[in-house]
Amino acid sequence: MSNLNEQVALVTGASRGIGRAIALELARHGAAVVVNYNRSTEAAQRVVSEIEAGGGAALALQADVSNADQAAELVKQTVDTYGKLDILVNNAGTTRDMVIMMMSEDDWDVVIRTNLKSTFNMSKAAVKVMMRKRYGRILNLSSVAGIAGNAGQTNYSASKAGIIGFTKALAREVAARNITVNAVAPGFIPTDLTEAIPENLKQASLNAIPLGRWGTPEEVASAVAFLVSPEAGYITGQVLSIDGGMVMG
Ligand code: NAD
Repeated sequence: MSNLNEQVALVTGASRGIGRAIALELARHGAAVVVNYNRSTEAAQRVVSEIEAGGGAALALQADVSNADQAAELVKQTVDTYGKLDILVNNAGTTRDMVIMMMSEDDWDVVIRTNLKSTFNMSKAAVKVMMRKRYGRILNLSSVAGIAGNAGQTNYSASKAGIIGFTKALAREVAARNITVNAVAPGFIPTDLTEAIPENLKQASLNAIPLGRWGTPEEVASAVAFLVSPEAGYITGQVLSIDGGMVMG
């Protein structure tokens, strides 16, 4: 598998769940990793300690990535510390599930801002740095909900579908500078994010998964590690489903 030695990666929302698994996996491949978090200082520090215990380099940096100034500052701090930024993983995300009749404007705005606007904020700041180096890998977390839609998640599905359009547009924009932009679309991966889903719905979801089981954060992380590697240099503008076969085609 790929070698990310000498590379610098930034993973947003990396104190837990899928982001944490991605941070650990990129570090395992040799990248120095910035572990971004919004509120969970201790959890982020634990991820850093785990990376350091494995012989890697990592740094926890606080920023609300839905805020453009904080996102830009996060990229600046990364470059100030490590001198460059090769890999950006836009992982931070949230849900406010509700049928549309009950969904407040705030439920809509928070999810679009956290999932979609943060991807714009971070990519804009990172692209500036990557363009100068004529190298970069941007990987965005979409979802099966952004491809197939999910009842009770109009806000989340719209944000994740928006990320797919964003990924393809940016991939075209920056390709000439040797920067690739791809997305992954995980299916059902038990994490804190999926805790709120009622148990009967979780069980029912298994019927829709050909592989007959849920996925793990580590399975998402290993696909991400490939897509951000130098070896994936001819892949851009793509959306890779990691969902046990739930959504095909
Ligand atoms: P999670 O809730 O465990 O992790 C999300 C992380 O993002 C949290 O640590 C949270 O604090 C952080 N975050 C939220 N808003 C932030 C902000 N403004 N600034 C910085 N950090 C912020 O959820 P997860 O399941 O690990 O999800 C990670 C990503 O994968 C999300 O984008 C999610 O939509 C996507 N995804 C998850 C699943 C799944 O089944 N778990 C499926 C498809 C896609």
